Amino acid sequence: MGRETDKRVLETLDQWHKDSLPGPIELYARLMRIQAEAKSTISFDRPHLPAEAISERLRRGTPVLAFDEMQLDWGKIDSLFAEALSVIGEYFSLGPSPSTIPLQEMARAWYEGEPMSDGDEEEPLLVALHTALKPFLAAQAEALLPYVDQSLWRRGYCPICGSAPNLAVLRGEGGARWLVCARCDAEWRFQRLQCPFCGTKEQGSLGYFPDAQGLYRLYVCEECKGYIKGIDLRHSQSEVLIPLEWISTLDLDRQACELGYKAGELATTNNS
Ligand SMILES: [Zn+2]
Ligand SMILES: [Zn+2]
Repeated sequence: MGRETDKRVLETLDQWHKDSLPGPIELYARLMRIQAEAKSTISFDRPHLPAEAISERLRRGTPVLAFDEMQLDWGKIDSLFAEALSVIGEYFSLGPSPSTIPLQEMARAWYEGEPMSDGDEEEPLLVALHTALKPFLAAQAEALLPYVDQSLWRRGYCPICGSAPNLAVLRGEGGARWLVCARCDAEWRFQRLQCPFCGTKEQGSLGYFPDAQGLYRLYVCEECKGYIKGIDLRHSQSEVLIPLEWISTLDLDRQACELGYKAGELATTNNS
């Protein structure tokens, strides 16, 4: 990650825009642009904790970044949130006043995995909220990751923010498996033969469907019926921009649902 990746992400989004994309991909690409542009203006050079305190949290299984430790610019977040909602409103009908919950309260509930009360109205709000917070979250994750001792963390949830992963990446000799956080883009090492969601190591319950090129695969678990998309970087012929991968692989999500799997959810909330 870092500046160079931010720049390449924006260039690729420009290219996608010129090629005109199908509806859902276009929506996500536009939201991605909002957050990628914001992120390219934010950076944190130092983590908020000393290295030893970071390792201590990892040893306890506690994600490193608590909500109250996030460095957030609420003025900026407000405007990113409004911008994201207006884009989403071009694709979905939103209620007249989508939420009465104050943004900061909503952000905390989302981050700490607490349910919100708006029911059906919730989904577009959460997507807009994620778009608005992601630049800050990802920039802070980038500052923290160099201090994360990967040998201290083999868990199914993100060592930085506690969220579930939404992508697995195989890389390096031997193809170590890394998980990518759905929320902050942090990457962490994980066992190849274990479900990140329910934790089973039962080999008979774990499998994957590879694509014809061997580049993408769908990891599935028969125990919790969860899936996670995977990309084998050892088989990639061209540059792969991880932050864009979950958008360009939306078709794999469709296939997974058709096969009866659901996007994996953590068995427990691990962020408090
Ligand atoms: Zn995370
Ligand atoms: Zn499972």
